[in-house]
Amino acid sequence: MSAVCRVGDVPVGGGNPVVVQSMTNTDTKDAVATAAQVAELAEAGSEIVRITVNNREAAAKVPEIIERLRDDHGVEVPIVGDFHFNGHTLLREFPETADALAKFRINPGNVGRGARHDRNFATMIEAAIEHGKPVRVGVNAGSLDPELLDALMEENARRADPLSADEVLREAMVTSALTSAAAAEEIGLPHDRIIISCKVSRLPDMVAVYRALADRCDYPLHLGLTEAGMGAKGIIATTAALSVLLEQGIGDTIRASLTPEPGGDRTIEVRTCLDILQSLGLRSFRPEVTACPGCGRTTSSVFQELAQTIQAHLDERMAVWRTERPGAVDLHVAVMGCIVNGPGESRAADIGISLPGTGEEPRAPVYVDGEKVATLEGPTLAEDFIAMVEEYVERRYAPTGARA
Ligand code: SF4
Repeated sequence: MSAVCRVGDVPVGGGNPVVVQSMTNTDTKDAVATAAQVAELAEAGSEIVRITVNNREAAAKVPEIIERLRDDHGVEVPIVGDFHFNGHTLLREFPETADALAKFRINPGNVGRGARHDRNFATMIEAAIEHGKPVRVGVNAGSLDPELLDALMEENARRADPLSADEVLREAMVTSALTSAAAAEEIGLPHDRIIISCKVSRLPDMVAVYRALADRCDYPLHLGLTEAGMGAKGIIATTAALSVLLEQGIGDTIRASLTPEPGGDRTIEVRTCLDILQSLGLRSFRPEVTACPGCGRTTSSVFQELAQTIQAHLDERMAVWRTERPGAVDLHVAVMGCIVNGPGESRAADIGISLPGTGEEPRAPVYVDGEKVATLEGPTLAEDFIAMVEEYVERRYAPTGARA
């Protein structure tokens, strides 16, 4: 089991629930827009949010962003500063920023070359020690330390049985992360203030790299398939990569690095992470609706509409239940299209409805805790079923959160 690293008040690793992270794409020097987007991401379920701190103007705005977040949006979420190239300068020049951040992300491939690399890296680690902050050593295939890669390539060329170029690249990433973490500890950063990530854009590389990390260290691991892409392709690639590792117990915090549509909704990367964790049964964030895909047995759109209505209703109500009846997050509702699998799935859910397929009697049996309790029909069927769901939640999930 990995060590536990606290990011703000969020424990990462050590068997704690896998933490959802995201990153803004606003210009950090625009404090109003950045605070607003951090709030959106946090409200969508992101438990840690990273912002880029890429220049002096951005660094100067960090304390204001956190203040606005709290005062204008009522949101308190750990903010991580993402540093590349000039982090050693910014963290020294802006101590209030170093203090306000909950963690520094340092990419060992982007801290300078040769002697400057070690000096700059040490400066950032010293800032982390001074301000009592954890660090993510975040290696990325696109910015891997070229000196390290060259050295490993040369060493490999001398081997009797050389590894493939891909294997050397993977080893270079793992080595970069582990030697950087060891160097940070040597400077004085406590072991439990280090998280590691090695992001690549291809699933087989990602799985191999993280398996190697999990074998060779006990630092908490941040998972992400970098540059996953847009739309369904990005979501599917991320889901596949993260699922393989999470299912093996590898990974303490995750991010979906999705490219949004121009002007698109950034929170999709958060919702993707929540759905991955919920689908894997690792965490529950909202009630589950089981709906069949429909087929030639259901030629009307009634059941699709009902499934959509129910999901929307549950999502809306969960905002209230989260504080009033938190146990409702485990609710399982089934909305099925016909008699083939409808009664079975409905019985298996907490509450389920089996709608009539084409040619069946226009009546819909409702099952509660495995028992048939009612048959609905007519134009008020959707409202009647929603009322039964409401009644079920009220009865089963006590206001304190304990299951009745
Ligand atoms: S439950 Fe009925 S309508 Fe739904 S997919 Fe199965 S056979 Fe088709």
